Amino acid sequence: MIEQILGLPWELLGVSFEGDERCGLILKELKWVELVNESSAPYSSFAISEAQVSPYKAALAGIWHTHPRGPANLSIEDYNAVLDLPELIHAIITPRHVCLYGVIDGQVMNLSRRSLDVTR
Ligand SMILES: [Zn+2]
Repeated sequence: MIEQILGLPWELLGVSFEGDERCGLILKELKWVELVNESSAPYSSFAISEAQVSPYKAALAGIWHTHPRGPANLSIEDYNAVLDLPELIHAIITPRHVCLYGVIDGQVMNLSRRSLDVTR
């Protein structure tokens, strides 16, 4: 599942260096949906309400959000979100990278990472 999620065509999100963070869910059928970033400071954080998630709950494999200005490292809030939802894969998408995080043996781990082809 990790390799399949990593291999999704994240380039198609078209993450630019401008603007607010974007966010959404990764579904078990290996597609993503984009949801509304409900953070009060969306330029540098993201929030997704339970109401937005509930229609997808049974199909949920992970959560993604963007870091438009990079890096793909976890913020403190991101780290805590990974720990709070250890059953999910957490993807951070920058204009140049996708990086997956999860919890293994109680520890937040960088599961995998790849560069995005931004030449198009
Ligand atoms: Zn973040």
